[in-house]
Amino acid sequence: MNNTLKRLLDLQNLDKEIIEIQRERNNIIEKLRGEQMAYQQAADNQLSLKENKNEMEVLKKKLELDIEDADLKIKHLEENQALVKKNKEYQALSKEIKEAQEAKEKAKEALENHIKQTEENAVDVEKGKSQVDEIKNDFLKKADDVKVQLLEIQGKIKRYRSIRNDIIQNINEKYLSLYNNLYEKRAPKIIVQANNSMCGGCHISLPAQIIADIMSLKEGDALVTCENCGRILYIEEAALAE
Ligand SMILES: [Zn+2]
Repeated sequence: MNNTLKRLLDLQNLDKEIIEIQRERNNIIEKLRGEQMAYQQAADNQLSLKENKNEMEVLKKKLELDIEDADLKIKHLEENQALVKKNKEYQALSKEIKEAQEAKEKAKEALENHIKQTEENAVDVEKGKSQVDEIKNDFLKKADDVKVQLLEIQGKIKRYRSIRNDIIQNINEKYLSLYNNLYEKRAPKIIVQANNSMCGGCHISLPAQIIADIMSLKEGDALVTCENCGRILYIEEAALAE
C-alpha cells in the first residue's frame, strides 16, 4: 500500500470519528430540546389552569349578583302584591313571585356547583404547580449536564481537528481534493476495500484490470477509483499476501 493511501485511510478513520461525535452532539442537543418542550408544555398547562381560576372568580361574582337580583325582584313583587285589591292581579303576581323564586333557587344551585368546581380547580393548580417545579428542576439539571457534555465534545473535536490538520499536511493536494469531493457525496465511506473483485462502496463487480492496478500500486502512482461510484479502492496487505 502506498503512503498516500495510508494517510488517506488515517484521514478517513479520523473523519468517521468526527462524524460520529458530531452525531452524538446533535442527539444530545435534540434530546434536551425535547425535554425543554415537555417543560414548556407543562408550564403552559399550568398557566391555563391559573387563567381558568381567574375566570371562575368572575363567574362566581356573576352568580352571586344573579341571586341578589332575584331577591330584589321577589321583594319588589311581594310589595306590589300587598297593595293590589283585585284577586286576578294578586294571582298573577303570585305566579311571577313563584317564577322568581325558582330562578333564585337555580342560581343558588349553580353557585354551589361552581364553588365545588373552584375548590377542585384550586387543588389541581396546587398539584400542577409542584409538578411543574419538579419538571423545571429536572430540566435545569439536565441542561447543566448537557453543558458539561458539550464542552467535552467540543474539546474532543478540537483535538481531532488538530490531528486532522497534521495528516492533511502530508497528503498531495490533488488526492486531498479527490478525497474532499468524495467526502461531500460519500462520507463516511470514501476509501473502500476491493475484496472479491467487488467495490466495497457500491458493490459493483470490478474489472480484472482494476484489481491488477490496485495490486501493483506503487508510491507516486495515481490512485485507483471505482468506475461506478468514484470511491478510492484498496486491498489490505494481508489480502495481497494470500
Ligand atoms: Zn463503487
